[in-house]
Amino acid sequence: MTPHALLAFGQVRLFDKALLLQLVMAYKGCQVILPSTLSKGIERAIYFMKNHYSVIVIGAGSVGMAAGYYLSKNGIDTLLLDAFDPPHGKGSHHGETRLIRHATAEGGHYVELALKAQELWNQLEKETNKTLFIPTGVLMVGECYSSFIDETLKSAKEYSLPLETLHAAEIQKRWPGFSIPDHFVGYFEPSSGTLLNEECIRAFRQEGLKRNITLQTNTKVNSIDFVSSGAIVKTEENTYYADQVIICAGAWTGKVLSSLGLPLEPVRKTFGWFESNDSVFQYPMLPCFYFSLKDERYYGFPDINGSGVKVGRNDSERKIDPDLMSQDFNKYPSDEGDLRSFLERFLPGAAGKLKQGKACMITKTPDMDFIVDHHPKFPHVKIAGGFSGHGFKYSSVLGKILSQLVIDGHTEYDISKFSISRPALAIV
Ligand SMILES: Cc1cc2nc3c(=O)[nH]c(=O)nc-3n(C[C@H](O)[C@H](O)[C@H](O)COP(=O)(O)OP(=O)(O)OC[C@H]3O[C@@H](n4cnc5c(N)ncnc54)[C@H](O)[C@@H]3O)c2cc1C
Repeated sequence: MTPHALLAFGQVRLFDKALLLQLVMAYKGCQVILPSTLSKGIERAIYFMKNHYSVIVIGAGSVGMAAGYYLSKNGIDTLLLDAFDPPHGKGSHHGETRLIRHATAEGGHYVELALKAQELWNQLEKETNKTLFIPTGVLMVGECYSSFIDETLKSAKEYSLPLETLHAAEIQKRWPGFSIPDHFVGYFEPSSGTLLNEECIRAFRQEGLKRNITLQTNTKVNSIDFVSSGAIVKTEENTYYADQVIICAGAWTGKVLSSLGLPLEPVRKTFGWFESNDSVFQYPMLPCFYFSLKDERYYGFPDINGSGVKVGRNDSERKIDPDLMSQDFNKYPSDEGDLRSFLERFLPGAAGKLKQGKACMITKTPDMDFIVDHHPKFPHVKIAGGFSGHGFKYSSVLGKILSQLVIDGHTEYDISKFSISRPALAIV
């Protein structure tokens, strides 16, 4: 190693880790006293090497933690940074349970992903020996016509998914907890059910850490500088370097990527658990449910292990700034009021005392489709966000897709509808 090579140290390509390693070794073996500019350069290089990762994932929530897990399975050295300690109650993934439906109302392109996601959840269960999925089934109920139900039926037919049609009397006979008007109709998907979503995140975290991911919790990313061959990620305490970056910051994705001007809209949603002493509301006596009414949509879960019946309203929301969102359930009278009046109409025996209520955020895109793509200017940066209130069930397969985008530059799954350059997003 010539002094000239050492002097060039400060200018050495930031992301050539192997070359840096050689230089540091040369420095360590060097007997001469080096000029201070040179030793500073070497210190910088050592700092860089310590803080350099092949991949940095910004946001280790539902999708980010899954991505970390799949990268770790491929031996990729990965740093996950999260502003909190996932699973936590500040973003989009708290509340214990999420529905997974395979026949979806959001378009046929989601069905294959839902089926793959289910397979991956089942694998994760086996690997961790934890219960992550409860086969509650999901009953969709609607007044005679509903576009939600119509779309669900179409996708079930196209993919030959099991979906039983049930009239009001049949629903009540099978699940006496419901009170269903005669003109309503139901569709039961027995193979779908409930994901214990916080447990899912814990499982990905545990398995990722067992391999080689590094997770920094309570570490907010303040800025990211994209350069042609990598990125420089700054937190309050540190600067990190990566060859590739995945950004999946949930409700903060628009803020983290403010330069892109993505049309992402974070909104506040609420849900509550209600006391129900009657066994007809307990799993397995009650399935999960989704009601598509004329102007309102509600979903819910049976009482699982004494949790109470959980119910949430799907169509009502308040635009918020994720840094200022009120976590207070019952900040607005409708937080509890809407849920209670739904229960009184359709599950009257479950409209008991409120056990607990929570507020959570979803992040909407204008067309409610996800964004899963490369950054339009920096292909080594992947973006996953805008899950529009239906993303959790897919987070296993989305994590796998992101790992494929990082490792292979492409994925075997069809994500064309999630393109960042689609007209609905209208970014320049
Ligand atoms: C009430 C409610 C009900 C829902 N029901 C369903 C359902 O039944 N089925 C379904 O499939 N989906 C459902 N969803 C949607 C689903 O939960 C979300 O789509 C999913 O959790 C979003 O995952 P995410 O990874 O984008 O966000 P999160 O899981 O919130 O992860 C984002 C992470 O990024 C971190 N972060 C943000 N900014 C920074 C920063 N600057 N630096 C470091 N870290 C940062 C956050 O701390 C967070 O941990 C529901 C959502 C809500 C709110």
